[in-house]
Amino acid sequence: MSGRILIIDTVPTNRIVLKVKMVTAQFSVDACSTQLEAEAIIATNRPDLILINLSDPVEDHHDFCRTLRNDPDTASIAIIAVGVADTSKARFAALDAGADDVLPRPMSDTLLLARIRSLLRVRSASEELLLRESTSRALGFEEASAQFETAAHVALLSPNDTPDSALVEMLNKGLHQPVRVLEPAGVLRQTSLTPVPDLFVIDATEAATPGSRLFGLVSDLRCRSETRLATQLVIVPDGAPDIAAMFLDLGADDVTSVSTSPGEMTLRAKALIRRKQLHDRLRDTVRDGLHAAITDPLTGLYNRRYMEPHLARMAAQSGADGLELAVMMLDIDHFKSVNDTYGHAAGDRVLVQMADRLRENMRAIDLVARVGGEEFLVAMPRTTAAQAHSAANRLRRLVNCRPFDLGEAHPKLRITVSVGVAVGGPNGMEQLQLGQMCDQADAALYAAKSAGRDQVAMSQSAA
Ligand code: GH3
Ligand code: MG
Ligand code: MG
Repeated sequence: MSGRILIIDTVPTNRIVLKVKMVTAQFSVDACSTQLEAEAIIATNRPDLILINLSDPVEDHHDFCRTLRNDPDTASIAIIAVGVADTSKARFAALDAGADDVLPRPMSDTLLLARIRSLLRVRSASEELLLRESTSRALGFEEASAQFETAAHVALLSPNDTPDSALVEMLNKGLHQPVRVLEPAGVLRQTSLTPVPDLFVIDATEAATPGSRLFGLVSDLRCRSETRLATQLVIVPDGAPDIAAMFLDLGADDVTSVSTSPGEMTLRAKALIRRKQLHDRLRDTVRDGLHAAITDPLTGLYNRRYMEPHLARMAAQSGADGLELAVMMLDIDHFKSVNDTYGHAAGDRVLVQMADRLRENMRAIDLVARVGGEEFLVAMPRTTAAQAHSAANRLRRLVNCRPFDLGEAHPKLRITVSVGVAVGGPNGMEQLQLGQMCDQADAALYAAKSAGRDQVAMSQSAA
């Protein structure tokens, strides 16, 4: 896995030893001894991950870590604190300063490399989400997404019938909420987990026992569509760096040993929950942005950008099935006079109610789109000319039978539409000529207008 790593350590031998290990593992490496040098390197040669000696005899780097974490420009750089004394106080201080993990000396090379791989994996996922979100924002599809922290769902997976009650209590207390205890096989058997946990805490203190299925559990949770976005914190036995490394490589987000202090355990759990909720929010913004890109903000109907490729796929499917596809163009009659007489806001109300009437009266497989100011397109797969004709008349009557609400200032108004219908396939054309069909529906619409409005006209080829 490629990646750029920055080593910050005043002790030359530490730097050299770490650098050799990283270069051997095919990473690009920079190394320096002071914060000043580190700042210059970060500005010119941005690392993906920093290995920092947090028990540096010359400079205290805790605040430096905190600054990197709080600056949006550097917040996504992963940080591993090395050289820390293996005491719960020192480990807690490092994590609290923003380090993603702490690896005291002597360090297991296997664990260090597994940790780096895992952090780089998460980092590239975060960066991709951030990039998509910023593109979405740049395109103007910003939905003010809520920034408040929502309650997290945490589940403890315990292989025993009797879960470690001290662990359950510690999590309940540290996270200020009840933790659900689930049985691993049950989780994998269930077809739906509601709510899907944001964090799985996996008690793998017995992972070393022969036949342990916990390794498979971690990768299964990572693969299943329902649980793959949940984060995983695995609790491993003390002094088992190889087991920890294996869990990380299988997809765990964090591993910690069973004797970890309650403070550190909750700090790690909270960091994973925060990251999961941030990723969820970024995904939601992108999804909302995509939704905004293909819908019309006034009526909520699909816009032309969505309609064109979707209609093409409908036509291809109808062609493949050997069935007809009907296309209707609807245009509100004398709509300009609605605006001129009652104002633009009243006109907008009519458009919204028109969209509702169309949407509510079509099948789920039909496509309803707003393709112009007061023009709508309805596409109906598996529909013969006769069926399309009656559907068009049904819509026309749905409009003219019930007056439209223009707001309190005006009386209700009778509105009418004209409809042009074209039908393609299966006997006429080998392959549906979509553009031609839309032109035919347009021509039919024009004919309906010329014939006096409030009526349906069938295209010559569909009649
Ligand atoms: P016809 O029966 O021939 O279709 O006449 P018409 O008045 O409906 O057609 P015309 O094309 O002359 O006018 C369409 C009007 O629709 C003009 C335009 O101002 C209005 N319009 C387009 N988009 C919107 C919108 O989003 N809101 C409102 N209120 N009016 C719109
Ligand atoms: Mg028009
Ligand atoms: Mg019109």
